[in-house]
Amino acid sequence: MKILYVASEVAPFAASGGLGDVIGALPKTVAHDNPGYEVGVILPLYGTMKQEYRARLEKVIDISFRYSWRNTGASIYKISEDGVNYYFVENEYYFNRAKLYGEFDDAERFAFFSLAVIEFIIATGNVPDILHANDWQSALAVVYLKTEYAYMSALRGIKTVYTIHNIEYQGKFDPYILGDVFALDSKYYHVLEFDNCINLMKGALVTSDYITTVSPNYAHELQYAFFGFGLQGIIAENSHKLAGVINGIDYSYFSPDKGGDIDFPFNKRTVKSGKAKNKKALCESLGLDTDPRIPLVVIITRLATQKGIDLLLHIAEELLSKKLQLVVLGTGENEYEDALLSLQERHANLRALIKFDRVTSKRLYASADIFLMPSKFEPCGLAQMICCSYGTIPVVRSVGGLYDTIMPYGMENSNGFNFSNYNAHDFLYAIERALEVYENEKEWSELRKRAMNCDFTWRNSAAKYVQIYNNLLNW
Ligand code: ADP
Repeated sequence: MKILYVASEVAPFAASGGLGDVIGALPKTVAHDNPGYEVGVILPLYGTMKQEYRARLEKVIDISFRYSWRNTGASIYKISEDGVNYYFVENEYYFNRAKLYGEFDDAERFAFFSLAVIEFIIATGNVPDILHANDWQSALAVVYLKTEYAYMSALRGIKTVYTIHNIEYQGKFDPYILGDVFALDSKYYHVLEFDNCINLMKGALVTSDYITTVSPNYAHELQYAFFGFGLQGIIAENSHKLAGVINGIDYSYFSPDKGGDIDFPFNKRTVKSGKAKNKKALCESLGLDTDPRIPLVVIITRLATQKGIDLLLHIAEELLSKKLQLVVLGTGENEYEDALLSLQERHANLRALIKFDRVTSKRLYASADIFLMPSKFEPCGLAQMICCSYGTIPVVRSVGGLYDTIMPYGMENSNGFNFSNYNAHDFLYAIERALEVYENEKEWSELRKRAMNCDFTWRNSAAKYVQIYNNLLNW
């Protein structure tokens, strides 16, 4: 099978968030677990790419093509690594910029990228069985295949998969852009039109052969107005070709038995003593009480509305009056940063660490007893899976991927505590349940064992994607 992933970010070459991490991990897992598959990934060659990667680029081909009223072109380079061919689309004018996005001509830049992907396939004659596009920036690759290029018999066998990582950014533009910039005939206006705008995500949703998003529960939630950012109707209409596949976590990076970042590495067998030593060292370094019986509760998050920080602030006084210590590591909206700093002035058992710091995050995952994640919405969520791997028990709102990954206490395979309504006291009661069970050492150690035994590897998720590809191809 030949699979070509199309994305605007791929770690480690270019990444600004979750999309980059997913496309950095998924293709290489698919390639590793399926010998014989030809796996490619294509992305723009940004001006921000590090010299260490630039030095390894090999030229593949120069392509030239018509883009609306312009004759234009690109050079395609390649780096082969981990069984995957990473292709880079070079065009100085569009991509040699200081940042990935946020430019005045993003629509034109990523339409050019999507078109270059199709022209690259034509020029090399290396036609994939599956073209897997991601988010609004590569949505047009799917749309071009199913519209302007539909007449080309060489491309007709390609099956397309489109993944929503972030539905908030849909690629919405003025309708004039269709012909002038995107080089699409006006007869295709209805494909991309939504709410009197051009909406690239909508175009890919209706034209792709299959749609995925990053957790099964989120795939369901997206069909409702609270989560769908306006596209809920389109998603519901296309739900016959929709599935959710949970993202994996990188165990080679987030693992308690790796020295280096954490003070005392530990594994499933040594978790009790290992965590106790890390907790003591961490509390000492933060000037907190080192009494091992006081539960250490942590939050590691962007300080954004999505993450349920409002709920935390609402119950903060009650929570901090309990026998526990709370450490919050996060950066984000000013009002949340200020509120946490001001709470810290009044509560000796709170530390607000306002920074983005991976090493501190690992020390907290390793030391904590309880992890809080009361998200308002959460497409997949990684932090709840990472904390499980460190034997730290999550208390989550059962939403999006949190619902799929954290089984509530009381169930046979439970690995955490949950609450359902977006309600501050429901959150507090869930924390209280966790604190109660924490007092029962035997119960807690069994819960911790189950959390650490969870398998959140990419291997499972990659196998689900391969199943989707096979079904599409009838293989
Ligand atoms: P999102 O992608 O919506 O921010 P996720 O739970 O999917 O949420 O991923 C968050 C990732 O970012 C986790 O790896 C978490 O450890 C990390 N993270 C969040 N805030 C910080 C921070 N302040 N310092 C270090 N790592 C952080």
